[in-house]
Amino acid sequence: MAEKVLTIADSITVGELAEALNLSVTTLVGELFKNGIAATINQRIDFETATIIVEELGLDVELEKKTTEGAGPERRVHELTDKAVDRPPIVAVMGHVDHGKTSLLDAILGQKVVDGEAGGITQHISAYQTIRKGRSITLLDTPGHEAFAALRQHGAALTDVVVIVVAADDGVKPQTVEAIRFARSANAKIVVAINKMDKETANPGLVKGQLAEQQIVSDDKQWGGDIPMVEVSAKTGAGVDELLDTVLLVADLEELKADIDVPAEGLVIEAHMEVGRGPVVGLLVEQGILKPGSFLVAGTTYGKIRTLLDFAGKPLKEAGPSTPATITGFKEIPQFGDSFELFKTEKEARTRIAAAKLENERNAASTNVTGADMLKLMTQKSETPDFNVIVKADVQGSLTSVMDSLRLIETGGQVNLHVISSSVGNITENDIRLAADDKTVIYGFNVDLPPAVKRLATRERTEVRLYRVIYELLDNAKDSMEALLAPEVVETVSGTLTVKGVFRTLKDQVIAGGEVTSGKVTSGVLVRALRGDELLGEAEITSLQREKVESKEVFEGDLCGFSLKTKRKLPLEIGDKLEFFTRELVTRTLK
Ligand code: GDP
Repeated sequence: MAEKVLTIADSITVGELAEALNLSVTTLVGELFKNGIAATINQRIDFETATIIVEELGLDVELEKKTTEGAGPERRVHELTDKAVDRPPIVAVMGHVDHGKTSLLDAILGQKVVDGEAGGITQHISAYQTIRKGRSITLLDTPGHEAFAALRQHGAALTDVVVIVVAADDGVKPQTVEAIRFARSANAKIVVAINKMDKETANPGLVKGQLAEQQIVSDDKQWGGDIPMVEVSAKTGAGVDELLDTVLLVADLEELKADIDVPAEGLVIEAHMEVGRGPVVGLLVEQGILKPGSFLVAGTTYGKIRTLLDFAGKPLKEAGPSTPATITGFKEIPQFGDSFELFKTEKEARTRIAAAKLENERNAASTNVTGADMLKLMTQKSETPDFNVIVKADVQGSLTSVMDSLRLIETGGQVNLHVISSSVGNITENDIRLAADDKTVIYGFNVDLPPAVKRLATRERTEVRLYRVIYELLDNAKDSMEALLAPEVVETVSGTLTVKGVFRTLKDQVIAGGEVTSGKVTSGVLVRALRGDELLGEAEITSLQREKVESKEVFEGDLCGFSLKTKRKLPLEIGDKLEFFTRELVTRTLK
């Protein structure tokens, strides 16, 4: 047991953590940097990172996550006004592979999914809408573990109801249990669809019994629980309408509402680039109404909605709460999971972006990276790191599932996954020996680590990681691979200027004036001085004036005065060009 237990929230700023740990900020920043994280005092790091850092520092402190009431991800609460209107429920359909999730969605949606390519836009969006008795239901599809984990991270707060599909001839399986966990952590209501009822081998009673073991107890008279279970056949369509009615009934008890007289907000649920169309972005509206022509900001990019399409690619006049929509018009691709906000004018949108970027630049400009560190990073050979694993699982089926999912982790060629061996059964001394001479991680899924083997593993310093939930194993593998990536140095030029006058040149300062020839000039960013192609030196802009008034930023076409902090004398002359840029250490992530 650690001597001291510290309770911290989901994330904490570097400054706060340093204080809590009684460490200097520099020590902490240094340790983070060693782990590939370039963070400044005010940046937040998540609980997991904090835990790793504390471990690496060898502190006798244990971190404990502060649990919020009700546990699980907090719903993004929008204060509702009296004018709030009913909104469609957002339903995630989940289940074990081959239990008929896709077939059930097809049965619910009819031809609509197949028609998804209408309008020339390839639909990758995994959100659909159907109508039952004049009411809309939004369905989120979660194919594969990747999407499952992603939904868990970003979409949990949006999910009202989880439909758990269980095949009546196969019963509860590992991913069924994962789906139950997801629903609970998302505080979503559960409806069970017992599928494949047309099969002779269907045994709904057995399924209910197995679910009861997971504390999911049917609300029928015999079981007396509170979870609605509907027997369906995706193949014949039997029970599908009843399932939708049940979903609506469950949703009604939740009184799902949203405001529409407010600026639209929601979540980016899909984004990709398309030739001829630019960024194509899938959104799920939480509140307000999207219309073509509106300006949207997501993360640090923005755009004017050029086309607004429904999930099937049909043009929409507007998209209200709970509606999945596909839009074009973004300048760049936003990130999956970014929130978006609507602005009436381009100016407001740009102001918001400028503020977001400025915030990023501030953080970047003050990043505590020494020149030597930077040089090391810049000259580092970019050899692709290897991630070696040995995989053990309880049965062949789950082994296949783990192996397939591991291989699906998209590394973009940045990390090589080497499977040293994979087999069924508990972890053995042989596995440890196999791993011993390498930096190999042993993953065990639903298997045990016998005490004698554990002792050997400790002696050999072999890492054995045991999991009972597949996506937790995958998350860990992905995190481990990301940890192998060295951070990248990214320079972003924000503007250029031509020097029109030099007022004072000191050893470590230049005061001059000029005209912004492109982009913008922001106080605080880095500056490169060029005479033709010759680099005169680098500096930092410490103050900026427009028409003799101190300004934070000055745009293309403007004249401005400025002061540069230089390391050595920088003999600027009229006609020299200044390039303004930020330099950032970016932790690389697997796409
Ligand atoms: P998913 O992996 O959960 O998306 O499962 P799929 O929808 O791909 O279905 C897996 C297999 O089960 C396919 O061969 C389907 O044709 C079959 N299947 C799905 N639903 C039913 C059903 O209600 N009855 C029968 N007999 N087969 C089904």
